[in-house]
Amino acid sequence: MNYYSLNKKAPHVDFKQATIKGQAPDKGLYFPERLPLLDKSLIDNIESISNEEIAFQVIRPYVGEAIPEQILFDIVSQTINFNIPLVSVSPNVYALEMFHGNTLAFKDIGARFMSRCLGYFVKDNNKKVTVLVATSGDTGGAVADGFYGVEGVQVVILYPSGKVSSVQEKQLTTLGKNINAIEVNGTFDDCQKMVKQAFADEQLCSSLFLTSANSINVARWLPQQFYYFLAYKQWHDKKNPPVISVPSGNFGNICAGLLAMKTGLPIRHFIAACNANDVVPKFMKSNQYHAQQSVATISNAMDVGDPSNFIRIVEMFDHDIYKLREVLTAVSIDDDSTRNAIETVEKNHDYLMDPHGAVGYIALNQYLQKYQHLQGFFAETAHPVKFYDVVEPIIKKEIPLPPVVADIVNKPKIATSMDADFAQLKDYLLSL
Ligand SMILES: *Cc1c(COP(=O)(O)O)cnc(C)c1O
Repeated sequence: MNYYSLNKKAPHVDFKQATIKGQAPDKGLYFPERLPLLDKSLIDNIESISNEEIAFQVIRPYVGEAIPEQILFDIVSQTINFNIPLVSVSPNVYALEMFHGNTLAFKDIGARFMSRCLGYFVKDNNKKVTVLVATSGDTGGAVADGFYGVEGVQVVILYPSGKVSSVQEKQLTTLGKNINAIEVNGTFDDCQKMVKQAFADEQLCSSLFLTSANSINVARWLPQQFYYFLAYKQWHDKKNPPVISVPSGNFGNICAGLLAMKTGLPIRHFIAACNANDVVPKFMKSNQYHAQQSVATISNAMDVGDPSNFIRIVEMFDHDIYKLREVLTAVSIDDDSTRNAIETVEKNHDYLMDPHGAVGYIALNQYLQKYQHLQGFFAETAHPVKFYDVVEPIIKKEIPLPPVVADIVNKPKIATSMDADFAQLKDYLLSL
């Protein structure tokens, strides 16, 4: 499989090059040249096929010759080695729990898959690869965990001092080995700027093999399809496919779901559940796309004013808003409704949602009220304990720490402090 740039001004590349480069030289996102049609027997027999085999069959056409089959099978097996249960919440409404990986958010699958692919691609390099990434919270933990111990890869994560939660900071700073955390005296934007300067620096790029683990990387985007196939495997009523509501920020997760549907997975309809950052809901109404400044909400992983992956969705539907509206509804949910849903669902259904999942829950319920013969699920994208500072005051209870987190909160933090100064970062990288 080859990939082209959505800006159409860069050469086509294979999966290996797309993974190593991340973004095309013309700054476009990579997109597969053709969408593979799935073998119908995979869908018809899905309940009797192992999770590993399903994931392997889904991803194989996108990887093509770039990774031998046995190695690819091992990579997907390691990628999905945690539970992804579909649980009942309220009448006609289920939750797909995507948060049982090591860092308690759905980004684990993308990070685990990408890190292992990159590890394979650089195996025979004599130069070590350095993955450089800036994080505002969840991405850094998933990348750190995914790349931990991968041979031939050094990871450098920049995070803004005092601006990530204590759990998130521990996830970045307690691993050691090939994971290096840099605590920047500045904001997330400063971190991002320093990373961009590094990629533009000729001396750095010639002495290091520098790459990014950004969420637009095809090796992070494509494996997110696994969630939707494994959900369908558990879906109780195969004759009536589910409506799926996905809490969306950068639109990578829902874009993977739509790709799964396009290539043959039975899904009734998708709902993009957004918070107050409503660029896409406005676009779906008006057919006018206006990027906005992001606004802060309690579902902060979705505070995105110009979602990078939405362009891939538009491409998938041939830039035709009418086609898109048939399969996708987008709505915006405010913080008060989100708090209210967390409280009432905990009280009435004994199910605790995180703020992102709660946005998905509300959007799904609104849709099912209109179409009462349908059923569906929402993506529960993070464990509520990750956002305990929001959730605990709402339910007036403490959320017990799951073992993966309980282990790390007592480990010592190891991070290099730095000003928001590119010269300092450059010295650091050259001395690695
Ligand atoms: C990243 C994130 C999202 C948004 O996912 P996108 O793929 O960017 O749309 C939603 N919920 C949580 C918990 C996240 O970490």
